[in-house]
Amino acid sequence: MTSKQLTSVLPSPTPHWVGDGFLVRPLFSNFAFGQEVSPFLMLDYAAPHEFRPSEQPPGVGAHPHRGFETVTIVYDGEIEHRDSAGNAGKIGPGDVQWMTAGSGLLHEEFHSREQARRGGKVSMAQLWVNLPAAHKSTPPAYQTILNADIPVVEVADGKGSLRVVAGAFGAARGPARTFSPLHVWDVDLKAGGALELPIAQGDNVLVALFSGAIVTSGRTIAQAGLLTFDAAGDSIALKATSDAKILVLTGKPLNEPIAHYGPFVMNTEAEIRQAIDDFRRGKMGRLEELA
Ligand code: MN
Repeated sequence: MTSKQLTSVLPSPTPHWVGDGFLVRPLFSNFAFGQEVSPFLMLDYAAPHEFRPSEQPPGVGAHPHRGFETVTIVYDGEIEHRDSAGNAGKIGPGDVQWMTAGSGLLHEEFHSREQARRGGKVSMAQLWVNLPAAHKSTPPAYQTILNADIPVVEVADGKGSLRVVAGAFGAARGPARTFSPLHVWDVDLKAGGALELPIAQGDNVLVALFSGAIVTSGRTIAQAGLLTFDAAGDSIALKATSDAKILVLTGKPLNEPIAHYGPFVMNTEAEIRQAIDDFRRGKMGRLEELA
């Protein structure tokens, strides 16, 4: 295998609050919603943050989405979701919620009631995955992927693990159903641990370093951020110099136009106008207030 060369290191941006529940860093920075990151759109990472106990769960209230998928990975704490398609669920550490907004829905994302009452650490990542034009109108769907159902590949010498959330790694296949070929690998590398990642020819590849330090293509990266790589080559070698948390995303670019406005991601501006109109007319459904 030939190693890909590192082309850029985007530093971790200043965090901002999503509602009052998630203090996130948008790691794709200026690459978000661009062709360089297709089929992915953006990645928000909320580093561990301590919340005070509260009777009112923090989070973000009802808002719409259309034309893509939101993938939430919980690292610490418990998050609860509810949407206008009638789906609801709670996910805890290691669990993943893969929501297909498709033709459109409303949803809300909060710390669970129990999590809010006891307070404490919450950490998560939310990845947005684009849908191919042919599937943007697919009915909304919801996959709860529990930690126990995610295959784990052990790193040599007990120096960490790679969880296959989507796609495959060697013989291990991830449980997520996807609309285009992609891989989501959730990696913990202990200091001294090394991993070689096979990358399909032509795939975009993004390595998000959440914490710790790694060496790749001869450079030491000791700050959280996003790494991008050259098109040439078919593998990436990572070595941790301190315990590192990493999310690796690779996928076949969709090569379709991207029109993006707030919570809607379509192919044309006309489709964006239609989405805004449909949302205003209540065509994306409703969420009843909880008693
Ligand atoms: Mn949302």
